[in-house]
Amino acid sequence: MNQDLMEKIVSLCKRRGIVFQSSEIYGGSPSTYDFGPLGVELRNNIKKSWWKKIVQERNDVVGLDAAIIMHPKVWEASGHLKSFSDPLVECKSCHKRFRADEIKDKCPECGGELTEARMFNLMFKTYAGPVEETGREVYLRPETAQAIFVNFKRIQETSRMKIPFGIAQIGKSFRNEITPGNFIFRTREFEQMELEFFVQPKKAKEWYDYWQKERLKWYLDLGLKKENLRLREHQKNELAHYAAACSDIEYKFPWGWAELEGIANRQDFDLKQHSKFSGQDLSYFDSETKEKYFPYVIEPSAGVDRTLLAVLVDAYEEIVGGRTTTTKATKEVEIVLHLHKKIAPIKIAVLPLVRKEPLIKLAKDIFSKLKKYWSVEYDETGSIGRRYRRQDEIGTPYCLTVDFESLEDKKVTVRDRDTMKQERIAIDELIDYFEYILDD
Ligand code: ATP
Repeated sequence: MNQDLMEKIVSLCKRRGIVFQSSEIYGGSPSTYDFGPLGVELRNNIKKSWWKKIVQERNDVVGLDAAIIMHPKVWEASGHLKSFSDPLVECKSCHKRFRADEIKDKCPECGGELTEARMFNLMFKTYAGPVEETGREVYLRPETAQAIFVNFKRIQETSRMKIPFGIAQIGKSFRNEITPGNFIFRTREFEQMELEFFVQPKKAKEWYDYWQKERLKWYLDLGLKKENLRLREHQKNELAHYAAACSDIEYKFPWGWAELEGIANRQDFDLKQHSKFSGQDLSYFDSETKEKYFPYVIEPSAGVDRTLLAVLVDAYEEIVGGRTTTTKATKEVEIVLHLHKKIAPIKIAVLPLVRKEPLIKLAKDIFSKLKKYWSVEYDETGSIGRRYRRQDEIGTPYCLTVDFESLEDKKVTVRDRDTMKQERIAIDELIDYFEYILDD
């Protein structure tokens, strides 16, 4: 395992305030993370890109933002209360706990003997209202999908959608994972981007194939390298009881291939179950075929946090000795994050060549103009080489430098993070210029 690379990424994230341990001043809350100023921009850009592709650009998908705490019956109907569990074993010597399906027959920490496996439910339970009593138990949702199923009828009717159509949602989910780990890859609180796409049963296979291709393409369009992505079809014995087929989009993380997203053909399981448990008919009348049926569901279900980790790993490059002639520090290691410009947290950095008036004034004027359109940073401290490197390591695609010549020719230098090519651009044309090069 390329432990080294993971450590470097974790350290960069902490040093630049992208992602860091939650509740750090109290010693940290285990396996929970907070996203700082750059992290929240990166997260939002990933979510925006998903929403744009899945909802905004299509006319057959609508959105939803449902409550996290739902009626407890939802989880009875969905099967989560009964079977959303992992097999748990405990080491008889060091008392550490593990997921039985992830380890061999001895404790991976001390080699001790393990207890028999027992099923451990992954749902977080809490109480609604001021009294802790039986009957008031509620759960934090372990997936966003169920809210889509229970709202199927209302959304279909109010938005007048016809099959095939989908409902999409982005939101937090919670799972009391036995072994969280690998930084933000597996945590107990995470965010999902889920689409439930409702189709005629006989068209399910066709749509399943369609969504596999679409989703893989989305990761490529985010800039992930083709050789680090693969689609893995589940074997029959891996399938959940309700799924006719399922495949994972996997990324080659430093510790090996692991799931970014699952795409499943859930058949009509969920709508049927919720009809049965709620007593409400969630079937659909197809005005074209004049048939009444429970639609099949194709579900591409992705994780914001895992996508974020994958884009960081994929974008990370270290250049020993530096790559700029302006950097004197030839022995230093220069870090460049080659993030796709559409997800980079900061799009443009505005830098006066030296910390002197009237360069500062002109640079600040340009900064406040550009800020109306994009996330832009202003930086005047340290040498210009150091400032370029500060931006390179957070993946800023363009640095704009104001120099003494700018006062005369009303132009500035724009430097490209990846090619390091520099261009003189007229100040008056900057907005058009960036609109053009930042357009995806
Ligand atoms: P795994 O097998 O890794 O536990 P899963 O198959 O249980 O994942 P799904 O239920 O298919 O995951 O959830 C869909 C997506 O939600 C996953 O592909 C992943 O991106 C994200 N996800 C699920 N569990 C977690 C978690 N504990 N931490 C971060 N992201 C998660």
